[in-house]
Amino acid sequence: MILGGGPAGCGAALELVRSGKANATLIERGAVVGGNAGSFEWAGQRLDYGSHRLHHATDPSILSDIKALLGDDLVSRERHGRIRLRGQWVHFPPQALDLLRRLDRRFALGMLRDVALGPLRRRHPAGPESFASVLLQHLGPTMCEQFYFPYARKIWGAPPEALSAIQARKRVSAATISKLVRRVIRPPGAGRFYYPRRGFGQITESFADAARGRGAELLLGWSVTSVRRAGASRSWVVVAERDGAVREIPADQVWSTIPITLLARMTDPPPPPGILEATEQIVYRAMVLVYLKLDVPRFSATDAHYFPEENVAMTRLSEPKNYSGTDEPAGSTVLCAEIPCATTDPLWSMADDAMGQLVAEDMARAGLTLPRAPSAVLTRRLAQAYPIYRRGYEGPFGELDRWSSSVPGLLVFGRQGLFAHDNTHHALFMAYAAVDCLRSDGSFDQARWDGHYRPIFATHVVED
Ligand SMILES: Cc1cc2nc3c(=O)[nH]c(=O)nc-3n(C[C@H](O)[C@H](O)[C@H](O)COP(=O)(O)OP(=O)(O)OC[C@H]3O[C@@H](n4cnc5c(N)ncnc54)[C@H](O)[C@@H]3O)c2cc1C
Repeated sequence: MILGGGPAGCGAALELVRSGKANATLIERGAVVGGNAGSFEWAGQRLDYGSHRLHHATDPSILSDIKALLGDDLVSRERHGRIRLRGQWVHFPPQALDLLRRLDRRFALGMLRDVALGPLRRRHPAGPESFASVLLQHLGPTMCEQFYFPYARKIWGAPPEALSAIQARKRVSAATISKLVRRVIRPPGAGRFYYPRRGFGQITESFADAARGRGAELLLGWSVTSVRRAGASRSWVVVAERDGAVREIPADQVWSTIPITLLARMTDPPPPPGILEATEQIVYRAMVLVYLKLDVPRFSATDAHYFPEENVAMTRLSEPKNYSGTDEPAGSTVLCAEIPCATTDPLWSMADDAMGQLVAEDMARAGLTLPRAPSAVLTRRLAQAYPIYRRGYEGPFGELDRWSSSVPGLLVFGRQGLFAHDNTHHALFMAYAAVDCLRSDGSFDQARWDGHYRPIFATHVVED
């Protein structure tokens, strides 16, 4: 029984039935599969939940499966992003010539000074280890104060000093000057990505369809409400609800990709009180996605605009047509603004029109002029967009993780399960790893999962 139909859940379902090691039933709360990496249709277009691309870092065997499943629908595209930095647009991913041309002398001199003083900073780290101290030590104050720190305050809603050093190591792929330089001087053409013609969600949909075709059962629109031990045995009863109807489904093993906090609260018998307390300290950052329909063929040639500066509420504005490369629909385009927030913020419940107005004002502040007023506005909300690694989060998360690993017949993985910043290809990698650890007699090789795969998961670094 697989809980959750995002990439991790659907990847596991296909790999399980394909390997012949087990039957699989998957329960997904949404009406369609895909989770945060899903797509939906609006304004004559397939749209994603914010900017999503498949990165070249995808494990070769997983990439070859995706290529086989999607065929010609998987296109390779060149990235055309830009960042608003000190009132200037610079190319993203960064390019050496472009940086030299666009950034002002004060910034360039600051960077040069930071490179020169690097060895000194690394010998004398400032204060307790945090997101701020790691990046300051390795990159210096110029890049931190102009880019990473304001961006971090917006994305995670916390001061960089309050965030864990792990956040810097896992989330910032250019966390040292040498990595930054390597990114800047990489050969032209290296900044490419894969994208499915029918939206990023087509990846997970194709896994789900293939799993269904090989006999997996997918229950969509059913919300799991309880995961109950079946008597004294090692097996489970999973309870799910849809529109007042309740189903109780028996399972030998439960593989959960839903948020670990939710799982801990619905497991029966419940975990010890300390574990339930730990769930209170594990917090996900939410996000409102605001889609503007513009009645013009295209807004710009840029795929994503990034906004580290704090006078703009959104962190990123993308134009989906520039991901798939389509010209359809001919007379309109859509812009998607990503606005991170807490579910307790007024933003979370703001009406669509007010959100549309907020994005238009943000755009004006960033020097982006709307060619005409949007003809329609739509919002979508993600309650668990990003894990927030506050300093010390490892304590409560470690307790939850140890608890879930100690329960026989329960396996937790995926971005929400392992509270990881992971990309889709990482979530799929975990799914494949889980099936690799399942023996043909149905028992789970926990030693291989813990000793071989977990150290690999720990090396996953997110790409934007
Ligand atoms: C704004 C944004 C941009 C991103 N950009 C990229 C990118 O460019 N490239 C990339 O590779 N990755 C990107 N990601 C990350 C990507 O979305 C995740 O890696 C991926 O969705 C993780 O898959 P998952 O299956 O682990 O989790 P999820 O996609 O979160 O799936 C979990 C599933 O569990 C379901 N669920 C939860 N509770 C229940 C319940 N009680 N009962 C039943 N089902 C339940 C949910 O509905 C969901 O479908 C981005 C993420 C965000 C938020």
